[in-house]
Amino acid sequence: MSHKGNIPDGFRDYGNRHKLKSVSVVCDRCHKTVHGLESSMGTSGFYRMAGIWGMYRESDKEKVVCDECMRKNEKYRKDYGLA
Ligand SMILES: [Zn+2]
Repeated sequence: MSHKGNIPDGFRDYGNRHKLKSVSVVCDRCHKTVHGLESSMGTSGFYRMAGIWGMYRESDKEKVVCDECMRKNEKYRKDYGLA
């Protein structure tokens, strides 16, 4: 498995590539500041609306959506059995 070209800036630490980093982001749906975690494996507390998460976007402008908003999304609830 190769991570080449897939590691975001700030994660170029190949000795410990799954290291978690604390990040503060602003949710593009509710505009609240979210304190989450991010590693090269993914995010926790919020979603980056790229790749597979792009299909849960409610507007093209959404880049970051918090957990709370995502759980209110109908499609997400259906897909993950939360309905
Ligand atoms: Zn939100």
